[in-house]
Amino acid sequence: MKIVVTGGAGFIGSHLAARLHEQGHEVAAIDCFHPYYPVERKERQFHALTGGRVPLARFDLLDGEATKRWFSQFRPDVVYHLAALPGVPYSLAHPLAYIDYDIKATVNVLAAAGEAGVAHVLFASSSSVYGDRGNVPLREEMADGRVVSPYAAAKYGAESFCHAYAHLYGYQMTIFRYFTVYGPWGRPDMAIGTFLRRLLAGEEIVVYGKGTARDYTYIDDIVEGMIAALHRSGGRSEVFNLGAGAPVTMEQLLAELRKHFPDLKIVHAPERKGDVKATWADITKAERAFGYKPKVAFAEGLARTVAWAREYER
Ligand code: NAD
Repeated sequence: MKIVVTGGAGFIGSHLAARLHEQGHEVAAIDCFHPYYPVERKERQFHALTGGRVPLARFDLLDGEATKRWFSQFRPDVVYHLAALPGVPYSLAHPLAYIDYDIKATVNVLAAAGEAGVAHVLFASSSSVYGDRGNVPLREEMADGRVVSPYAAAKYGAESFCHAYAHLYGYQMTIFRYFTVYGPWGRPDMAIGTFLRRLLAGEEIVVYGKGTARDYTYIDDIVEGMIAALHRSGGRSEVFNLGAGAPVTMEQLLAELRKHFPDLKIVHAPERKGDVKATWADITKAERAFGYKPKVAFAEGLARTVAWAREYER
């Protein structure tokens, strides 16, 4: 199949583009190299993972005309739309940027995909759309818009546009709600990435409030799930949790990290606004519709990530 991955030089996008290419698809990536985190890192991760075998179009999806032009030339069968500004803290400082990058750019992609006759659009949403629900398994139908950050509000809005455009153009729509993805080349602004960088530099790590519990999901499981969903069952426009299905508390994360860094030191800081205290994915729906079954246990995934960081994060 002809497949485009937007945000293809990002953490998840680079892994996904590389795997789709390995499987023999004709893959192209689009990325504007937004400086949310260092552009050189995006260049390195895209190159390291795809080995230069995936063509990359460097432009901003906020440019609706350029987006339409590119789609009408490449004419993909499938679009994985991952391009966005991620992350909660940045969204508190720059809420309007999320309306641009997470909503407007998404609408440009949805319209360009419709006009180019795309059959299936798969969109990267987030567990943050559930808001702060406490430590309970989250099922897809529980999202009701009561979110706690501008990032989550933008993702929730973008999901609605996805449903609307699937209806207007008749393509299949799959919305993934990821739950804290980690692994080699993991985003440097997320907890595990930040902790590893500081630990490797011999610095203490900062825990906000009592620390949050997260349904950490290993990157390979996410990628396999996203690809399996190409052949999913269900209706035209569906939402699926992609998590590990078991939350890891901050104490558990710190205990696992101590196995690799016995001298680990912690400093405490006040709780951060916009952070939900716990996430826990109910993954039954994805399991039924496309056989999603995460395989990498947290201790194993973290060990692989630490090994990668020792080589690349110095
Ligand atoms: P990332 O920042 O590494 O990747 C996103 C990429 O999109 C970046 O390389 C960026 O340059 C690109 N981009 C942003 N706006 C663009 C635009 N207008 N035009 C072209 N390119 C643009 O983030 P990631 O962690 O790989 O996340 C990928 C997607 O998954 C995002 O939509 C994110 O919100 C979502 N998500 C990620 C997680 C996670 O745990 N990593 C969790 C939930 C949801």
